[in-house]
Amino acid sequence: MNPITSSPPVFRNALRRMPDAANAPPTPNEIAQKLIHRDYLSWSSISTFLRCPKRFKSQYIDGIEPDFVSSNLVFGSAIHSAVESVYRALFAGKVSPDVDDLLKVFDSVWKEETRPIRYGKNESTESLRDLARRMLDAFLASPDHLPDAELIGVEEELRGAIIDGVPDILGRVDLIVRTDRAIRLIDFKTSKASWSAAKIEESAPQMLLYTKLAAPIARSFDLPVEVAWVVLTKHKQPRIETHCLAPNPDRVGHTCAMVREVWRAMQQRYGYAIPSAMNCSTCPFQETCSAWGEIT
Ligand code: SF4
Repeated sequence: MNPITSSPPVFRNALRRMPDAANAPPTPNEIAQKLIHRDYLSWSSISTFLRCPKRFKSQYIDGIEPDFVSSNLVFGSAIHSAVESVYRALFAGKVSPDVDDLLKVFDSVWKEETRPIRYGKNESTESLRDLARRMLDAFLASPDHLPDAELIGVEEELRGAIIDGVPDILGRVDLIVRTDRAIRLIDFKTSKASWSAAKIEESAPQMLLYTKLAAPIARSFDLPVEVAWVVLTKHKQPRIETHCLAPNPDRVGHTCAMVREVWRAMQQRYGYAIPSAMNCSTCPFQETCSAWGEIT
């Protein structure tokens, strides 16, 4: 007797439907790995694409080494690390470091930078260090630096498949605290000027995505998620400003839809340039870009 013809039809159909791992379509994470050499999307990659797809292509697809790093970027990460050290100490039950301790952290980040640093007009390492001291002094003096809340996480890495058909989103939240009414995600920023309502709008999508990533944490406390930015301004007399946002589900949905479209466009390997004074003045791929003959 032929064993195949004797098998019940339903069994043969089931066999035909067995997934064939070798022929299964690649997952979004696998596509991302091939395209941008990492199996996730970060907000930084998304915002780079939105600003200029050519810059995104140079940095993430072609993996070109940047010609320089802006002093602004190094300054921001050095301040960020100094601020982070305050919460790491508090989280470990220690006393908050003083401004000299914070400056040591600032200096170590600055010294670790191996890429050529491009300074802005009238800037030098010394003038930026002086600014850093004033900003960190103002930060430690501000009541906003000690939130009246329980510390839940410092530099917390959150990752999840939060948008259908899109690779995992990976985000790092500077500080997570529990207030009496919400789980609050806090992002620390440095800024030349005080933030306007428009600046808050511009910065909202990143944190709205993070509210989705943080949803399991919020659920475990049975609390909603809210976001806040603590802005350290670079004024002569720096100010510390806190801006809060209670996310609404429509805006979160809109942000996810936008990221889905960006992911579609990334996969098309679009590399068109969006030259503008704002984009190009700080772009570390100017030479590559000019060499392609796209900018006249
Ligand atoms: S120089 Fe300007 S147009 Fe060229 S990649 Fe950089 S940001 Fe885009």
